[in-house]
Amino acid sequence: MTALDTEHGNGKTTAIPEAPANFIQDIITKDMETNKHGGRVHTRFPPEPNGYLHIGHAKSICLNFGIAAANGGLCNLRFDDTNPSKEDIEYVESIERDVRWLGFDWDDRMFYASDYFEKLYQYAVQLIKAGKAYVCDLSAQEIKDYRGTLTEPGKDSPYRNRSIEENLDLFARMRAGEFPDGSRVLRAKIDMASPNLNMRDPVLYRILRATHHRTGDEWCIYPMYDYAHPLSDALESITHSICTLEFADHRPLYDWVIENVDYSEEAEACPQQIEFARLNLTHTVMSKRKLRQLVEQGYVSGWDDPRMPTISGLRRRGYTPEAIRDFCDRIGVAKRNSVVDIALLEHCIREDLNLRAQRVMAVLRPLRVVIENYPEDQVEWLDAENNPENPGMGSRKIPFSRVVYIEQDDFMEDPPKKFYRLAPGREIRLKNAYIIKCERVVKDEETGEVVELRCTYDPETRSGGAASDRKVKVTTHWVSADHALRAEVRLYDHLFASENPDEHEDFKTDLNPNSLERLTSCMVEPSLAAAEPGSRYQFLRQGYFSVDPDSSEGAPVFNRIVSLRDTWAKAQKA
Ligand code: ATP
Ligand code: MG
Repeated sequence: MTALDTEHGNGKTTAIPEAPANFIQDIITKDMETNKHGGRVHTRFPPEPNGYLHIGHAKSICLNFGIAAANGGLCNLRFDDTNPSKEDIEYVESIERDVRWLGFDWDDRMFYASDYFEKLYQYAVQLIKAGKAYVCDLSAQEIKDYRGTLTEPGKDSPYRNRSIEENLDLFARMRAGEFPDGSRVLRAKIDMASPNLNMRDPVLYRILRATHHRTGDEWCIYPMYDYAHPLSDALESITHSICTLEFADHRPLYDWVIENVDYSEEAEACPQQIEFARLNLTHTVMSKRKLRQLVEQGYVSGWDDPRMPTISGLRRRGYTPEAIRDFCDRIGVAKRNSVVDIALLEHCIREDLNLRAQRVMAVLRPLRVVIENYPEDQVEWLDAENNPENPGMGSRKIPFSRVVYIEQDDFMEDPPKKFYRLAPGREIRLKNAYIIKCERVVKDEETGEVVELRCTYDPETRSGGAASDRKVKVTTHWVSADHALRAEVRLYDHLFASENPDEHEDFKTDLNPNSLERLTSCMVEPSLAAAEPGSRYQFLRQGYFSVDPDSSEGAPVFNRIVSLRDTWAKAQKA
């Protein structure tokens, strides 16, 4: 499947992708050879619905869905909804939309950890009956104090040796709502002297009166992630439970839960946890908690602000799912944390759009040019190629007339040495049209600002015409004043000024004050009147742009996705 075959936004991956070369694939290949898991591969993508997905999640999505597809396996979408106070249905819906948009499909395998609340409760009862879990009345602070440190063993809770009957009774009453929030917890009875702090009698259940977005007020006790996650994996017959590196220290607990709970009536799988390095990007923060602050405190316009590293922000900015998947392929999967240059992501969208975005002309900061020897009422409809890199995209007609706009930057009254664009007495070519010469400059009498150029054109130099091969140094974009459409263009820069905003005590102090520039009097060629929100173009010499949903009929708003300057490709060549 080539990039051109898929329509933006719903590019479902139908072709079976090649197996990627990485350490996780190596583990899977070996497991298939030894027939571990009966030769099955079943993964899951397990977001917590407490925010919108970001580009880091895209890495996990591509990995989990990609590795399943490459090995003839399946991947589930599972909402890890065990923390009701922060979760919301809005997030659930956005996550579904984003995963689909990226091109992945879970068929009928969408699950919620909350689907398993009753089973998880019964398994906890089972652990209590086996003497492997107990109700503890210590406060959160006391539990912490008893836990010990990396160098000192912990102390047993005074409640550790409660009888099984008492534990069963108390746990049932925790569920029944007899005790206040935070007054008791259920803990696994493992080893308070374990060198791994996670194994020092970790909490399995807490009391929390919070309305859950799915189970409402049915529960006032909720399972902890470290308990719910391995069992959710087991119940879904997951074989390879892929997560990020910070969970490596939790793996012994994951395995303990799998080994000590008997779920054989429900499922057979013994899922195995495998950790990989999370994606970090320069000039970006990648934690939902921090992204949520930006949204809630109004630093950005929403989760889908085009400067956000969220999938919805990237989509609104104009990124394609193909470019994001390509990016995820290129960064690969490793066991050590690193930071990826955001220029690589930008490179991927340029590569993708180079072949499929139509080239058009748009003048962002217009300067009026009157061509004095061009007849007043004449309009010529000139041929313009839609994409020289992809001739199959054909051509269109653009109007040329006596008054045009060029970019203010393309003219200097008093040009320095290396400025080859327009200046008094000099010539440039207008793309697809004629060579013009600047004869005179008209200035605002009060401010002295250049407001208009009086030019002449050479009728012999029409592009594609017989005498058109006369050479000038510079060709510029332009639009016909009478035909152009007024548009707003939003130019973006990195949301954060420094490469690593997380290094700042408060990451928000590193916000780039110039991350958004709005130009409201741009002039674009008339063919863009019909541009649909979400469609993408290359504005000649300016970059790639997409039509923002803020557009209204006849008044388009464009987001600059990226400029044309590819700093990543340049760095590779150097
Ligand atoms: P955040 O810190 O942004 O809230 P999280 O890990 O708490 O992220 P989850 O919703 O729990 O968010 O994540 C769902 C899946 O996505 C997990 O398997 C997690 O490991 C993975 N994931 C999250 N962030 C990244 C990242 N930056 N790179 C790769 N995978 C990630
Ligand atoms: Mg999380």
